[in-house]
Amino acid sequence: MSKILGIIGGGQLGMMIAEAAKKMPEQVTKIIVLDPTKNCPAAQVGAEQIIADFKDKNAIEELASKSDIITYEIESGDSDVLKSVEKDAEINPSPETLRIIQDKFLQKSFLKENNIPVPEFIEISSFGDLEEGLKKFGFPALLKARRDAYDGRGNFKIDSPEQTRTGFDYFKGQKLMLEKFVPFKMEVSVIAARNTKGEIKTFPLVENIHEDNILRETIAPARISDEVAKKAEEIASITMDVLKGAGVFGIEMFVTRDNQILINEIAPRVHNSGHHTLQSSETSQFEQHLRAILGLDLGSTKLVNHTIMYNVLGSKTFEGEYKPITLSEPNIFLKMYGKSISKPLRKLGHFNLVAENDETIEQLLEKLELLKNKVVTQPVN
Ligand code: AMP
Repeated sequence: MSKILGIIGGGQLGMMIAEAAKKMPEQVTKIIVLDPTKNCPAAQVGAEQIIADFKDKNAIEELASKSDIITYEIESGDSDVLKSVEKDAEINPSPETLRIIQDKFLQKSFLKENNIPVPEFIEISSFGDLEEGLKKFGFPALLKARRDAYDGRGNFKIDSPEQTRTGFDYFKGQKLMLEKFVPFKMEVSVIAARNTKGEIKTFPLVENIHEDNILRETIAPARISDEVAKKAEEIASITMDVLKGAGVFGIEMFVTRDNQILINEIAPRVHNSGHHTLQSSETSQFEQHLRAILGLDLGSTKLVNHTIMYNVLGSKTFEGEYKPITLSEPNIFLKMYGKSISKPLRKLGHFNLVAENDETIEQLLEKLELLKNKVVTQPVN
């Protein structure tokens, strides 16, 4: 039976979910997104839009009354409001799964209780807790806001005792946690899916390179031994099993120097480090997400071609309209998100650089170096 799909958030992730849904007319008849920005990226690809804040109770109720099934592209939604509209629409991942994940402290506590490896952490409720925690973990340590803090914006690295007060004051009364610093050798992630019937599949492990706390490149597959990759994929699979949510989740991890895997963070949604699947894999993460929440069998997660994903970010030096970005080279798939205004480090698009024949990751990385300056945003005037 074909359904009306509601999505909270109509940015690039909502846009790519909507595009995947349009290819499944037998399952999805219509897409409605809730987003505060007029003509948001998802609306530009044909989704109907309710213009309101992501947490607007009335707007969420309106979305639920108009939809059969609701999903989201952001994890900052109000899980209580979502819970209250469960009678009107099925919500996946469930509000309960969202509630655990959207609070980093609850998330890590939940993982730890289920014997899933995470860095050492403690809750911070006062300046005294922070001083105690730093005695325990040493320097540096990561002070993190528990909620609403993605792309590293909610972290403060405390390098020395002198920075303790500055770090604490930086968060202005937000709920906090402290984490031991992990001197990782690589950051990796697994895009994992669990459908409403409990079937679980993981995409192969990928390697992520961050700059300024924002994802810059994803290398698929990660340049690491098969043994480590298998271990990370298994941890992701167990995580999906205990979390019980239906949908695609992005599971970010650290690989330590002695090849331990520690989960850094879980996103209960499609993830930037899964954009490579649009060209590299038999099923994209967006189609997989829809399959998962609609209760269909999950698609194959086989990586068909080595691929590097590179984010097109707004230049750090200006804000405003920017000159169109084009790339018309073979095996390069540029996707811009229809955002007319560039802001420093704003995610404006990405491209996938797909290997031809026997091209290695190292050869792709060399090609990437030559392409980087072609996607630097320039002001129109
Ligand atoms: P987060 O927003 O918590 O995912 O953190 C953003 C980035 O900060 C991560 O991608 C890591 O590069 C770094 N980071 C976060 N937690 C730690 C940690 N415990 N040890 C070392 N680096 C970290």
